[in-house]
Amino acid sequence: MLVAITYHEDFGKNGFSVLKERVRPSFQKLMESGLVDGIEVQVFRAKPAPLELVEKAHTAAHMANMQADQYREVALLSAGSVVMAAEMVATNQARSAFAYTGTAGHHASRGSCWGFCYFNDVAISIERLREMGIERFLIVDVDPHFGDGTRDFFKDDANVFHINLHSGTGEEHDPERNNYDIGLTFGCNNERFLDALKSALELARDFDFQIAFVIFGHDSHQDDYGGFNLTFEAYPRMAQMIKEAVGEKGLIFVLSGGSCVHVAERAIPDVVRVLSGRWPS
Ligand SMILES: [Zn+2]
Repeated sequence: MLVAITYHEDFGKNGFSVLKERVRPSFQKLMESGLVDGIEVQVFRAKPAPLELVEKAHTAAHMANMQADQYREVALLSAGSVVMAAEMVATNQARSAFAYTGTAGHHASRGSCWGFCYFNDVAISIERLREMGIERFLIVDVDPHFGDGTRDFFKDDANVFHINLHSGTGEEHDPERNNYDIGLTFGCNNERFLDALKSALELARDFDFQIAFVIFGHDSHQDDYGGFNLTFEAYPRMAQMIKEAVGEKGLIFVLSGGSCVHVAERAIPDVVRVLSGRWPS
């Protein structure tokens, strides 16, 4: 069944300065990969998230603060890309999706934001999916920066199992509210990262979710800015592990941190290849 790629050329033109350079070259590589030549992987043009939906997720004060921000339009389009991907998966038009973005989302709380994030794309998408009657979600945040904005939305919501693999220390599991954080120290390598992911997915195994989101930051690559030491081999293995854990349920990868063009050019097509079931060939 279909893998939907949601994309808009504005992500590469008007996206946040650190994030935008990777967008067009990685999309180009995806187009040249052969993956989109058939009908299994198709590209859909993102549309801005409806304002009334974004206003349900964020406070009026935050919406007012964003009014004059230079990234407002591309942030709405980024959230719209994730909403579109989520709707397609929720309505079984696609089995899984990869949503491109021009700004990130996981540092956006209900009432504030920082770190290249303006609107919380995943929280807005969950708002939309709940309008459609879907209640329970798994969020796997593999971006090396702690997803504090997403946690702000869902910390008390036991119907959202929120996993954070972040650069930090310690391990914390709140089984009542379904939050799990594991700190991976500076220089974390593939094996440590994948072991932590495996343990996290095992913890979530009995959680009966309907749709899973992956907050995919490739700033975890050793050449990128996140402080981890992952190599290219980590990304398809990560995607495969998550895909197996999610099984027949819907799965949406959301592009998050990362600035290195050559990392995005390889890591993104590799993830899409796994989603399409054509990994490793
Ligand atoms: Zn990050």
